[in-house]
Amino acid sequence: MSTQSHWEGHHGPVLERQGEYTVIACQACGFAHIIPIPDAESQQRMYREKYYTEMIPDYIERHTRDQPWWDHVHASRLKTLESLLPVGARRILDIGSGPGGFLRAARDRGWEGLGFEPSEQACRHCVGTLGLNVRQEFFTRETDLGEGAFDAVHMSDVLEHIRDPLAMLRAVRRVLRPGGACCVAVPNDFNPIQTALRRDRGFSPWWVSTPDHINYFTFDSLQRLLERGGFEVRQREASFPLDVFLLLGIDYTDDDVLGRQCHGWRMRLERTLYDMGLGEALTDVYRALAKHDLGRHAVLYATAREGAASPEER
Ligand SMILES: [Zn+2]
Repeated sequence: MSTQSHWEGHHGPVLERQGEYTVIACQACGFAHIIPIPDAESQQRMYREKYYTEMIPDYIERHTRDQPWWDHVHASRLKTLESLLPVGARRILDIGSGPGGFLRAARDRGWEGLGFEPSEQACRHCVGTLGLNVRQEFFTRETDLGEGAFDAVHMSDVLEHIRDPLAMLRAVRRVLRPGGACCVAVPNDFNPIQTALRRDRGFSPWWVSTPDHINYFTFDSLQRLLERGGFEVRQREASFPLDVFLLLGIDYTDDDVLGRQCHGWRMRLERTLYDMGLGEALTDVYRALAKHDLGRHAVLYATAREGAASPEER
């Protein structure tokens, strides 16, 4: 019987402990998250001021260097979104637009984009260098962009940082027109390879990153949350299963340089396949991995359900 823990209405079995935080499989929320949940003010300060300067200082530079690979990733996501939408759908919102790679790829495919990005450095890069339409703000449930203003929403590596991800998804649904589509990507945590290496091979829980990662999703828990938020999930996709390197004996979990090298090999593999015209095969492989809960990220595509808001929402 596993240990249970609770905090302000959140309760469930303990998955991990890290410093002052405990990761629980929260029965109230339906997904794993840390308790205590950091307060809004200290969290906002972190993203506005420190995230791209202190926590990941060379992120923008790395992103620019990795741009040709990102272009493939983003084009593939846009292609899937386009397949779920009528021809002519052209307004897209990117929440947590970071260094702007997705909005740039969207612009190249004829989309009209708007980004929300709290980091001053990232925002300056988007607006000043790339000429994109990005607001230096948090997108929250109070953000008023008009109901149904967008055909599509992209939100990558955001939900794991959010104090109330359900409220966020409902806010996303409100800005989408009925039938509009979203692409949500989060780290695929406590996945079968991670769990087995932790349990049987003495690995530390390297994917647990407190307090910046509050939530720890799986394909299923993210799908349930999207459904509660008023979406119908249409496609599940994994990203490259980076933990395969660990199975090959290449332990990058405590070695940033090696981690970066593994990322480089992964980019080389994917770019080579795209260049060989095997991009679609790669997408199929990643959809198959998702069926087994494998892959570093869970990428879900969903469409906004039509009709009135659920009673729970009012
Ligand atoms: Zn909870």
